[in-house]
Amino acid sequence: MPTDQPPEGATSPDARPILSFTAKRRGKAPSHLADLDLTDRKRVLADAGLPAFRADQLSRHYFNHFEADPERMTDVPRTMVEAVQSSLMPTLVKPVRSLTADDGKTIKHLWELYDGARVEFVLMRYPSRTTLCISSQAGCGMACPFCATGQMGLTRNLSTAEIIEQVRLAAKACRDGDLAGGPTRLSNIVFMGMGEPLANYRAITQALHRMIDEPPHGFGLSARNITVSTVGLVPAIDKLAALGLPVTLAVSLHAPDDELRDELIPINSRWKTGELLDAARRYFVASGRRVSIEYALIKDMNDHPWRAQLLADELNKRGKGWAHVNPIPLNPTPGSIWTASTAEAQREFVETLLNNGINTTIRDTRGSDIDGACGQLATTVATEERIDT
Ligand code: SAH
Repeated sequence: MPTDQPPEGATSPDARPILSFTAKRRGKAPSHLADLDLTDRKRVLADAGLPAFRADQLSRHYFNHFEADPERMTDVPRTMVEAVQSSLMPTLVKPVRSLTADDGKTIKHLWELYDGARVEFVLMRYPSRTTLCISSQAGCGMACPFCATGQMGLTRNLSTAEIIEQVRLAAKACRDGDLAGGPTRLSNIVFMGMGEPLANYRAITQALHRMIDEPPHGFGLSARNITVSTVGLVPAIDKLAALGLPVTLAVSLHAPDDELRDELIPINSRWKTGELLDAARRYFVASGRRVSIEYALIKDMNDHPWRAQLLADELNKRGKGWAHVNPIPLNPTPGSIWTASTAEAQREFVETLLNNGINTTIRDTRGSDIDGACGQLATTVATEERIDT
């Protein structure tokens, strides 16, 4: 459902389409080692006239040492560098801008892809973990009116390697001590940057393998520490459950009733709240992983005590302890008429859930001073560039 226009009623009267997120050229990202499993990496090397055993070596550089430039690999013969670059390790991203916040414990990077499309990721250090928030698409076709990326429309799906490059660069930044507090290890990944991951199902499931599989196949991250967040594409949730990777599912619910959810999440016209919660529950049963329910608290929109009660009832009638609610105060997007709920309304919403036995944690708003919420950095940069020209 690509859209260039913000949905009606979502923006102030003088708001124009926030930006033109147009790629210079559409097509497929160049094929890269991180797109392929080890067998295919060997095949591609053999096709390029290079020894297949190099696939192991190059994969270890990439997944163990976070190195993607064959020029810098001293054990790769100089005569091979160019062929390795063109067959398996082309440059996929170049940096546009990076910003830090929270005393250097949050870094946000904006990257440009081969065709001019832009994506971003945010790296956040907490006392016991370091979490990377990644993008799965350039832009997004889901058109949720409160979300900055939703206003952009969809430019294109990212390739597996473009998704995995975000992980490699973040893992490298952690190791190199780019975050305040010194070197650390990347431990958690959430698909909560730009895009709807389940609308790019093939690339994200391959990317999950590259994240989880042990080197030289992948990074060897723990599946339990990876969260796939979705607006609620029900058939894809069931497909993901059948895949059997114990990743955590997050469902962007934002309303417990169809009347309001139809307005906040346009895809709700296709899969209703009840169907979505049933699928979320099936995911819990199949994976054994508690499902996260995301709920952006929007002032006077979805923050009423009766909606908290209805949410608790909808969850409880499907079983106990299978879901965890993460309310987050809305991070207002440029031009939006909506704002975050008051502290009092947030408190009451959370209390109602807790009183009904629902696990609930208010999510923090890390990086909101650097446009940390979903798609906002890409929006800001594009707007500035339009003003410049
Ligand atoms: N498309 C996926 C993942 C990307 S957004 C999804 O919808 O789940 C990650 C989370 O941020 C989602 O829960 C989304 O609803 C939420 N979000 C988007 N814009 C927001 C905003 N302005 N304030 C708070 N949360 C927001």
